[in-house]
Amino acid sequence: MKHLSLILIVFVMACSAKPEKAEELKSGPITLVIHGGAGTIRKANMTPEKEAAYHAALQQALDSGYAVLKRGGKSTDAVIAAIKILEDSPLFNAGKGAVFTNEEKNELDAAIMDGSNLMAGSVAGVTTIKNPITAAYAVMTKSEHVMMVGKGAEQFAQLNGIEIVDPSYFFDSARYKALLKAKQSEKDKAAMLYDPYTKDSKFGTVGAVALDQYGNLAAGTSTGGMTNKRFGRVGDAPIIGAGTYANNQTCAISATGWGEYFIRLNVAHDVAALKGYAGLTVQQAADSVVMKKLPALGGDGGIIALDRQGNFALTFCTEGMYRGYVNEKEGAKTFIYKD
Ligand code: ASP
Repeated sequence: MKHLSLILIVFVMACSAKPEKAEELKSGPITLVIHGGAGTIRKANMTPEKEAAYHAALQQALDSGYAVLKRGGKSTDAVIAAIKILEDSPLFNAGKGAVFTNEEKNELDAAIMDGSNLMAGSVAGVTTIKNPITAAYAVMTKSEHVMMVGKGAEQFAQLNGIEIVDPSYFFDSARYKALLKAKQSEKDKAAMLYDPYTKDSKFGTVGAVALDQYGNLAAGTSTGGMTNKRFGRVGDAPIIGAGTYANNQTCAISATGWGEYFIRLNVAHDVAALKGYAGLTVQQAADSVVMKKLPALGGDGGIIALDRQGNFALTFCTEGMYRGYVNEKEGAKTFIYKD
C-alpha cells in the first residue's frame, strides 16, 4: 500500500511537470535573410552599375520571399521564392549563371530543410533542372529520401512536374571565361594534382533562411559548386548539416564558401549545436565557427543564421558576401562588402 501511494505521487508529479524551456520556444517576428555568395568581392573590381545590379537582385529576392511570409505563407515557401530569383539571375553561381566543371558542364547542387519537423531534401550534380531548389523541395515532400543525385534526381524531378531545361540554358559567357582562365592557370602551374580552388575566385552560391508567422524556421541553399570541379565533385550545399540546416529548437543556417571545409567541419550543424548545447546566441555561434574554426583549418566563406526569435547573423571571413535581410522592424537591407 505504501509502495502504491509512492508510485501514485511520482506519477502525479510527472504528469503535472511543465515542459522544459517552454518560454524559449516563443517565436519572433517574420524574418528573411539571404546570401548570394561570399569571397573576394572588392569595391575596386566593381563598377557602380554592377553594384547596383547586385543590390537590385538581392532586393528582388527579399521582396519575393517576404511577400510569401507577409501573406501568411510558410518559411519553406519563402526560402524557395527567394532562392528562385537568385537562381534565375546570371549574377550568382546557382541555376542560370552556375560555374563550369572541368568538362565544361554545369552541375548543380541544392538543399532545403524544414526546421519544424527536420524534414530535408537535396539534389546534387543535376544538369537539366532549371531551379534545383524546387527539385530539393520535391525530394523532401514527395519522396521518402533526403538526397538524390544526377540522372535519377532529374528523372524524379521530371516525374514530379519540375521544369526541365536543355543544359545549354545554364551557359554564361563570363562563367565560361572563368573556367578557361582556371584551366590555363592549372596548365601554367603544370599541376599534377586536382586543385579546384584559386585564391582570387569568389563563390556566389545562394541561400536563404526564413522564420514564418507560425514560428517555423527553414533553410535552403543552391549552387553550381566550384569552377573547374571534376569527377562528380559535390560540395557542402546539398549536404544536410554542412551547408544547410534548420531546426526550430536552435536555428536555420545556409552557407557559402570552400565546400570541402564546410563538409569537414559540419559547419551548419555545428552552428546549430553551439546554439543548442552551449547556449550561444546565433551571432556567437556563427563567429565561433566561421571566424575561428573555419580559417584555422584553412577554409573560408560565410553563413547566414536565423533563430526562432528573429535574431540573425550574417557572418563571413572573406572580403565580402552578397547578403540582405528583411523584417518588420528594419525593413529590407542589402550589403556587399564588409561595412
Ligand atoms: N560552397 C559551394 C561549394 O563548395 C561554393 C560556393 O559557396 O560558392 O560547392
